[in-house]
Amino acid sequence: MGDRLKDKVAIITGAAKGIGFATAQRFAQESAQVIITDVNQEAVNGAAAQTPNAEGYVMNVTDRASIQAVVDHVMQKHGRIDILINNAGITQDARLIKMTEAQFDTVIDVNLKGVFNCTQLIVPHMLEAVSGAVVNAASVVGLYGNFGQTNYSATKFGVICLTKTWARELGPKGIRVNAVCPGFIATEMVKAMPDNILQDIETRSWLGRLGTPVEMANVYLFLASDEASYVNGVALEASGGISL
Ligand code: NAD
Repeated sequence: MGDRLKDKVAIITGAAKGIGFATAQRFAQESAQVIITDVNQEAVNGAAAQTPNAEGYVMNVTDRASIQAVVDHVMQKHGRIDILINNAGITQDARLIKMTEAQFDTVIDVNLKGVFNCTQLIVPHMLEAVSGAVVNAASVVGLYGNFGQTNYSATKFGVICLTKTWARELGPKGIRVNAVCPGFIATEMVKAMPDNILQDIETRSWLGRLGTPVEMANVYLFLASDEASYVNGVALEASGGISL
């Protein structure tokens, strides 16, 4: 156990599995009070049960009422929210010609508007405290685009711009806002990709492999902690150097 997040209350969205779950566990190891949120009750309960010092709540980032209910509950119980990790995200890939309007809208709603929803409803409490850290899940594909990901890459580019805008608006009020741009990380989202594409990615990464959820959790930990006290408005690429 470390104490890099001692006395901090951290809400993590989409934390029942993948990078969000690894981040919840890593934050708990560093003594944070972890609030695990995700869309499915059973998955939330399972993740919270495996994480020390954690509570789990159903919260859909597209549903402002569900976010508000969790925020109100956490404020009542803990009196503070120090860290928001906007991790929830989905893919619905198709080439431009084949992408349906529903695929486009759904991914925008979760990955882009979801970040807006959660941050807008949580930041007022950070403003009151004149302190806080928000870390958003972007992606390397938000920097460079990606074949078959019109909707997804647009959301991640958008998340980087939200990050930089909020870093300007909220920095003077004591709240830092940063983004992480993971490369290709071994989670269900990536394992869903065809084998030949995954092999190509491993070859193109200069470390010769996919990243792990824990490696991303460590980046979130740094940006969320006071160790990053002079880091604001960055989109930190953690990709093994895939874009070099
Ligand atoms: P994952 O699919 O393993 O987990 C995502 C979680 O988000 C799931 O538990 C899911 O239930 C939850 N979720 C989905 N819709 C939600 C909603 N509306 N409200 C709340 N929760 C919701 O994904 P992952 O690979 O761990 O990715 C986590 C984040 O990192 C995503 O934003 C993703 O875009 C980003 N990212 C992942 C990779 C990668 O290689 N895995 C690369 C770059 C960026």
